[in-house]
Amino acid sequence: MNQVQLRIVLAVTLSAAGFVPVRLSAQAQRSPVAPRRELVESVVREAYEKFRSDTSGKNADYIPYLAQVDSKLFGVAVITTDNQVFTLGDVNYSFSIQSISKVFTLALAMEEQGPDKVFERIGSEPTGRAFNSVPAVVDMPTHTGNPLVNAGAIATTSLISGKDADERWSKILAFYGKVAGEKLTLIEDVYKSEAATNTGNKALAMLLAKYERIYSDPFESVDIYTKQCSVGVNASQLARMGATLANNGVNPATGEQVIKRDDIPYILATMTMAGLYDSSGYWAWHVGLPSKSGVGGGIVAVAPGKGAIAVFAPRLDEAGNSVKAQKVIEFVAQKLNYNLYSPSSVGLK
Ligand code: GLN
Repeated sequence: MNQVQLRIVLAVTLSAAGFVPVRLSAQAQRSPVAPRRELVESVVREAYEKFRSDTSGKNADYIPYLAQVDSKLFGVAVITTDNQVFTLGDVNYSFSIQSISKVFTLALAMEEQGPDKVFERIGSEPTGRAFNSVPAVVDMPTHTGNPLVNAGAIATTSLISGKDADERWSKILAFYGKVAGEKLTLIEDVYKSEAATNTGNKALAMLLAKYERIYSDPFESVDIYTKQCSVGVNASQLARMGATLANNGVNPATGEQVIKRDDIPYILATMTMAGLYDSSGYWAWHVGLPSKSGVGGGIVAVAPGKGAIAVFAPRLDEAGNSVKAQKVIEFVAQKLNYNLYSPSSVGLK
């Protein structure tokens, strides 16, 4: 029997048995652990109500624009690997992605250079220091630390290829858009505000240059990095970026493989070690989900195979992580048994 005959026999047998053979597509690869919408919805709603009037923490103010953002804004979005969407609150407000951008520039750098080279040139060790620490650059054997602290992130941005700064920046922005499943844009006022005050990041870049751990012009790299941090996202777009990581690099809305499947474990491991800076240990202990925060007030948490939750609330704690976003995600992850290190996360009783 040749291939065609075999397929006909199979199709007839399957339809006689009541199966409808489907073409192998993104849908056919639906995750077996994608969560039930009603369950997620009720838990997220409970968390939203529980924490909505929490006023602890304060807006970042070292970037003047961020101090002016309405501290009461609060949005939550969940997107599952099979593209179920659930949103609550201020989910259309576009905030600056800030440090969450670092995850996606890392993905692009790995796409271009391969994970081994990125690991060798940047490293992946937690610094145990603030995200913009100068002593960490001096003390860490790699100097760059990891791709999610400012120094390592600026060095990661410096790895992106292009004939000039504009081409490198356009490539980064277009890549973020593919991960989000829609075009993203720069928030000009955030960029201007941060560019006028980012002497600390310039100092980090020059220090990296001294150690030969930055791979193109230091100030140009800081400028592109500042732009990537000023990209606007709303909670839904951020949740979709997280859901793409949860879905093996395939955007659940567009079905496009936008991040290499083999790179996903490296990205998630890096987020676990350094996604919430020097609170990453607390986060791994209490939540157990790879996540990333930004000083704009966003946090995205990834439940591999299941989906992602993104929360936006501008008030931050000392480490620079949104207070309300942490509380909501911690509550939801515990109620839904999502902690990756717990065998119950895959159904063991
Ligand atoms: N753009 C910010 C900075 O470089 C990003 C920091 C953050 O979100 N933690 O300081």
